Amino acid sequence: MDTKIVRIDDSNHDEVICEAGRILRDGGLVAFPTETVYGLGGDALREDAARKIYSAKGRPSDNPLIVHIADVSDLEVLAKDIPQSAYKLAESFWPGPLTMILNKKDIVPYGTTGGLETVAIRMPSHPVAAGLIKSSGIYVAAPSANLSGRPSPTKAEHVIEDMQGRIDMIIDAGAIEIGIESTIVDLTVPVPMILRPGYITADMIRDVLGDVCYDRTVLTHSITKDKPKAPGMKYRHYAPKADLTIFEGDNAKVVARINELAGQHVRAGHRVGILSSSENAGLYTAGDVVIVGSRRDEHEIAAHLFDVLRHFDHINVDVILSEGFNEDSFGQAVMNRLIKAAGHHIEHVG
Ligand code: AMP
Ligand code: MG
Repeated sequence: MDTKIVRIDDSNHDEVICEAGRILRDGGLVAFPTETVYGLGGDALREDAARKIYSAKGRPSDNPLIVHIADVSDLEVLAKDIPQSAYKLAESFWPGPLTMILNKKDIVPYGTTGGLETVAIRMPSHPVAAGLIKSSGIYVAAPSANLSGRPSPTKAEHVIEDMQGRIDMIIDAGAIEIGIESTIVDLTVPVPMILRPGYITADMIRDVLGDVCYDRTVLTHSITKDKPKAPGMKYRHYAPKADLTIFEGDNAKVVARINELAGQHVRAGHRVGILSSSENAGLYTAGDVVIVGSRRDEHEIAAHLFDVLRHFDHINVDVILSEGFNEDSFGQAVMNRLIKAAGHHIEHVG
């Protein structure tokens, strides 16, 4: 399949959105930017479009898709038994990086929800995403536009790498601002439950609803037998090709341990990638050091994390040694992704 790749700007904005909307209405697939990561869109109410999304991504079909809407009133078309908490969250955080799980209406096919009676709904704020959903006149099912298991795309180049030849169109709007996927909160349970941490933190949700809890698999750093409530969270994810280990503990000891292991690997003829903060980058004595951001700025780390993981693939490292980062507020979502990318390999030093 020929994939049309278009760079969108002020001069062609309406024209591109119009063409992409037509493709979606015809049951085709379009990758487009959102404020979190690039999404791979298809008509959420058509089983055939949903099937195409799974096949383009190589995604297991029990891993449900998030449905993107352009107006809060669309909630009632797609979901039933909607609690007041949904409207409160929508008022505070929509449009924006928050996904709500609600009981689905019959109109939403099981092909989109991975066979579940619930549906995940989000209203994105990125002007291209919002414009596309509005102008297409449909609800857009859109998982991240990466091949299943690979790091989510935060630049059009990442989407092109994974999706060229597999979908109808890619809209290139440059680098994405947030860089990790939406927060998912389940509103079908008595106490709202965070299934996936993201930019909207538990504290922010608590400020609005008073109470919120976590699916316990979000908080466990080791692999447990528990099944996460968001089916997608059980799969190996965000993974670079090389084995990645995270080193946590006293900063000086972390740097020393990474230097010790990097030296050993280099002597054994391996190519070593080091995922470093800007503060520590000058302290490493071996390996390819790649800066992900400042230790003090989890937003900067989030914005670069998936790009850095893909970079390690491009330079063909054999092993990746990574610093661990602060897990406060948005840092929790960042570390959740890094820990998954590491397949839960964490070494505590000092
Ligand atoms: P992605 O679209 O790639 O960001 O992945 C979507 C995430 O939302 C996956 O982890 C899914 O398992 C999760 N998700 C989507 N729909 C539901 C649902 N109805 N219940 C629980 N999790 C869901
Ligand atoms: Mg994804």
